[in-house]
Amino acid sequence: MTRKVQLPIRICTAFTALLASFLLSGAPAHAQETQGVQRMYVLNCGESETNDLSAWSPGVNIGKHWEFSDSCYLIRHAKGLLLWESGVSDAIAAMPDGFVVGNGRLTLHVRKTLRSQLQELGISPADVTHLGFSHFHGDHVGNANLFTAATLYIQQAEYDAAFGPDPSKFGFNPAFYNKLRDSTVMKLDGDHDVFGDGSVMIYSTPGHTPGHQSLLVRLRHTGPVLLSGDAVHFRENWQNRRVPARNFNKEQSLASMDKLAAILVREHATLWINHDKEQTDTLAHAPAFLE
Ligand SMILES: [Zn+2]
Repeated sequence: MTRKVQLPIRICTAFTALLASFLLSGAPAHAQETQGVQRMYVLNCGESETNDLSAWSPGVNIGKHWEFSDSCYLIRHAKGLLLWESGVSDAIAAMPDGFVVGNGRLTLHVRKTLRSQLQELGISPADVTHLGFSHFHGDHVGNANLFTAATLYIQQAEYDAAFGPDPSKFGFNPAFYNKLRDSTVMKLDGDHDVFGDGSVMIYSTPGHTPGHQSLLVRLRHTGPVLLSGDAVHFRENWQNRRVPARNFNKEQSLASMDKLAAILVREHATLWINHDKEQTDTLAHAPAFLE
């Protein structure tokens, strides 16, 4: 009698445990790939708006209101957890009217903090093992100081500008990232294969800043995705090869856009433009993920 009752309970408990582990991991353990990129999350790392888009497209779009997205990407690879970009500072979430920068040119908003989005995924900042930014402007390194446990991947030229004697000359604010000064740093001089298997490639794309870089992520089902950083800000600028006014070196920027275009063709990759809200709105965001 007792046995008849207990057996189903035990089975039920085992099933519940299995179900719980499935729900927590998002997939049964045996389905996790043991190599390459397992999944990528797109995180909403802020939004911004301007009343004059022409600052990003000199001579065009004068007085045009525009909204930009600001994305971060969390990439789970068999060998580590890479955060690419850290968005606008979480501190701005407490400001209901947002935060105005660039002499009123741009208003930044944070609807949901990066920390809370990671928390929802069961990830603490200390779990991030690899860290990279397309560049060191404040809307990309806003939460950089959270990730001191990670190895930082940065171009030597960007490092010299950001951690050198005059970061403000490049539009950088060390308050956002000065805790990374003591991090393990991989200083790069060109393209770099992050995990050594070709699945995540950093491409040097200078111009917007001295050591700007873009990221190619090979997703098993989605295919290769090329993350632009600020090599371009929105589709119309990409199609017309326009360089924004606030930019380090125009010639380098144009050459970097040509380099990205060649990578797209060679790798049959899709370009994801970080600040292109129209495109970003079509992407599945965390807790959903891409494989
Ligand atoms: Zn920028």
